[in-house]
Amino acid sequence: MQPTIVLYKKVPEDVLAMLQARFSVVQFDGVNGDNRAAFVAALANAEGLIGASLKIDAGILDAAPHLKAISTISVGTDQFDVDDLTRREIVLLNTPDVLTQTTADTGFALILATARRVVELADYVRAGQWTGSIGEACFGTDVQGKTLGIIGMGRIGGAIARRAACGFGMRVLYTNRTPNVAAEQAYGAQFTALDALLRTSDFVCITVPLTPQTEGMIGARELAKMPPRAILVNISRGTIIDESALITALENGQLRGAGLDVFEREPLSPDSPLLRMKNVVALPHIGSATHETRHAMAVCAAQNLIDAMEGESSGNMVNPKR
Ligand code: NAP
Repeated sequence: MQPTIVLYKKVPEDVLAMLQARFSVVQFDGVNGDNRAAFVAALANAEGLIGASLKIDAGILDAAPHLKAISTISVGTDQFDVDDLTRREIVLLNTPDVLTQTTADTGFALILATARRVVELADYVRAGQWTGSIGEACFGTDVQGKTLGIIGMGRIGGAIARRAACGFGMRVLYTNRTPNVAAEQAYGAQFTALDALLRTSDFVCITVPLTPQTEGMIGARELAKMPPRAILVNISRGTIIDESALITALENGQLRGAGLDVFEREPLSPDSPLLRMKNVVALPHIGSATHETRHAMAVCAAQNLIDAMEGESSGNMVNPKR
């Protein structure tokens, strides 16, 4: 008999076929209040779990006594308590690398859109307000030649550094817990303490994972260090920034603008003060959202699960190596 797995996010047909060739697949197109009980019930026989965008808490794990492996269709693992999974001898696998370039593109799109006021001025044209030659009121600020501070110089941070240094002639500063020598050599990136990075960067881009150490790492104190010319971009996770402190800083003109792909609460409420600010570009968490990349992530996650269930060691294991 084929092992049972639970799939909790829709995947492309070819990826579903990959899974169905090896497993008995119980499918959910996302989990919500209506189908949560059925999802939890399905876990009773599950040996594998694959999906994304759902907090997998102890209650869910308690309902899955036979679970051996979880494959998340994401690089971020903040929906899981990895220590608890390790204690339960459940392997967690993620999808690094395949989404790096696309997510870096999203970051750079936000840098350019905020600097050159792309969304605000496209709205101005659409509203019929372009009635003559534009003046200073429509000017933006340069990106090329400026200083970019990257908080979290890992895979995505490195891909942003490449765009910044090689494409836009930017000076790159970064902060990490450990120096990234490869980024220093390839892009001239300079390892810089967070406070100094905030004080001297024209653009600050957040690409650290959400962990207990990074949650709230950009609050009122940190925002106060940024100069009024600076733009803050977040493509990691919303709760790394104290959102109400960011709103206050933007309202007080402490920052030039913000480009945000992620928020404390998603979907962002239509009542959010952020949406009333012309100098904020807000996206619906589209970091990796292209057809090609989402397909590659689903393939990677499916292969991760197949390998783990067949006892193959996967390079994408998140639990600490023993
Ligand atoms: P990664 O390669 O692991 O890079 C993360 C970097 O953050 C590492 O260089 C790490 O270096 C640094 N870091 C970790 N904890 C830190 C701390 N406490 N202080 C300072 N630096 C710290 O991960 P990645 O593949 O680039 O992905 C990064 C994150 O992007 C993911 O975790 C996910 O949340 C987010 N993401 C978002 C989207 C989206 O749709 N918007 C898409 C993909 C990924 P050290 O270990 O040396 O500190």
